[in-house]
Amino acid sequence: MAIIRIEKLRKEFKEVVAVNDLTLDFEDSKITCLLGPSGCGKTTLLRMIAGLEKMTSGNIYFNDIKINDLPPRKRNVGMVFQYPVVYRGIDVYHNIELPLLKEGLSSKERKKRIYDVAEMVGIENSLKKNINQLDNATKQFVAVAREIARQPEILLFDEPITNVDANSKLQFKHAFKELTKQLKQTIIYVTHDQTEAMSFADKIALMNDGKIIQYDSPRKLYNEPETTFGGWFLGNPGMNFITQPCQKEDGQFKIKSDQFARTVILKKRRNIKGKVKIGIRPEYIKVSNEKLPYGIKSEIKRKSITIGGQYLLTIQRGDIIVKAKIPHKKGLGLSKNIWVEFPLDRITVFDNGNRIKEKLQYRE
Ligand code: ATP
Repeated sequence: MAIIRIEKLRKEFKEVVAVNDLTLDFEDSKITCLLGPSGCGKTTLLRMIAGLEKMTSGNIYFNDIKINDLPPRKRNVGMVFQYPVVYRGIDVYHNIELPLLKEGLSSKERKKRIYDVAEMVGIENSLKKNINQLDNATKQFVAVAREIARQPEILLFDEPITNVDANSKLQFKHAFKELTKQLKQTIIYVTHDQTEAMSFADKIALMNDGKIIQYDSPRKLYNEPETTFGGWFLGNPGMNFITQPCQKEDGQFKIKSDQFARTVILKKRRNIKGKVKIGIRPEYIKVSNEKLPYGIKSEIKRKSITIGGQYLLTIQRGDIIVKAKIPHKKGLGLSKNIWVEFPLDRITVFDNGNRIKEKLQYRE
């Protein structure tokens, strides 16, 4: 319904650069999550798109039309905030109806929109309830329904479940996922919660310090982080990193890692000086009581069970410690001294914090 394009968009609050010259195309009719730690500039970016915050410099386009100076009410954007914005003292039906009254729709048209959207959002049984009787999660659904009923081209969500209790969060996530399958709008959803971003997003813009670090599908962001920040931020726990010297030997660059994984060879010639980081996600580390072909003998220091019912192992060799995640059954039979292997296709090598894109090989 609308392509949103930002171009060199910048916002400064005195000496703080909240949004640092960002350029990005948000895809039409898709859900993009802005994901990143607290203070990285997600809300400021969203508020500039909504027209609630004036940019310091740069441009915003909706469908190739520059909208920099367009007031919020003329942008055809719906927005749901952290706290549910509802009109107190009236019932749910009239809460959804209020903005529709300004649009000159007949009462029949309004009623149809309200019933359709209430059913879509799953609050059809609460339409006659007074808003004051509802819990925060249902109030937030009312806020969502009201925005959808206006039929804007763009929907913006700013951490809508931050203030919802833990039980309702799960219910909201599930319902929201189902809901978005039916929506045609271009949606931007701000969150610092990676599980939310992973479950809703078509694309994730990973942010840090006012910048976009990577803009990719959830799967690609997880499996092919472009930076150590992406490897660390995503995953629970995030990627393991082992710092190792990289040396040129016989015309090849070799990452000496005899402390833990085997020595890895970068097949292409390149100019790397000093140390690199080997990254591997905990669930991709292979562990076994029996010798693994490219494994190294290591010691399990700690075993704990994760919420998902997996074993989280803390494994040590020398002064290097890594975390591995393995299925519960497999973890039960492991002895203290095990073989550990980092499968080559699961290793990422980072030089200066950035991923080196090339094939790797173990030294035989
Ligand atoms: P959170 O998840 O905590 O909301 P965020 O990623 O949305 O964080 P922003 O709220 O956009 O981050 O803030 C980005 C930076 O801009 C922060 O350093 C914040 O302190 C600063 N900032 C945001 N709004 C203002 C303001 N109105 N005045 C001054 N500084 C601000």
